[in-house]
Amino acid sequence: MTTPKLILWDIDHTLIETGGVGSEVFRDAFEQVTGHKIEKLADVTGRTEPIIFQETLEIYGIEDPGDYFLRFVRAQAEGYQSRAEEMRRRGRVLPGAREALESLATGLDAYQTVLTGNPRPSAEAKLSIFDLATMLNGNTGAYGDDDAIRANLVDIARQRVYKQTGVTFTKKTTVIIGDSPSDVEAASKGGAQIIAVASGNTSAEDLRSAGATTVLYDLADTAAVREAVAGF
Ligand SMILES: [Mg+2]
Repeated sequence: MTTPKLILWDIDHTLIETGGVGSEVFRDAFEQVTGHKIEKLADVTGRTEPIIFQETLEIYGIEDPGDYFLRFVRAQAEGYQSRAEEMRRRGRVLPGAREALESLATGLDAYQTVLTGNPRPSAEAKLSIFDLATMLNGNTGAYGDDDAIRANLVDIARQRVYKQTGVTFTKKTTVIIGDSPSDVEAASKGGAQIIAVASGNTSAEDLRSAGATTVLYDLADTAAVREAVAGF
């Protein structure tokens, strides 16, 4: 019998890329909500949206009356939805991502959902635009609008999964698959294993230096992804 595993997928640069549409949507939504046109975004790699949003406010010295982030979350998701065609044209599902999701759904007793810095409405928009949503149990995922600290999202996901399935996943049986040092840190601080994928802005070497012992160059080799998950 295989031990049930909980797989927590990062979205950006792990499963998909927006091809630049993501930062344009951010700028538009930011301007719509705050009235400020921005040129410069805070560093986004692996960070949760509330932190990126807050830092962008600070860069421009903008005072938040209190509801900016909530309004931004709505505007951002609408931005993705209205640019779905463009996302499909400029962005892409990363090589092997769809095949990995499909493959892990069989034979390994794996439960797959998401752990992402994206607010839930934007995460759902991105996944459905690229036709990946049905392969992930999005209701039990953890999102950037649940908590600004990525490591805290591990337990949020585990609790949601428990409520849905009655299965308790532990540090040993939970694995994050992600592309950035923040995913590695979320696993070590939040209590999960990590499979790091060098498909984003961080090299395999730098992911190892960040503490990942299992590192893949990409998801193209489905057998290697399965083996990595089965290895925990
Ligand atoms: Mg990522």
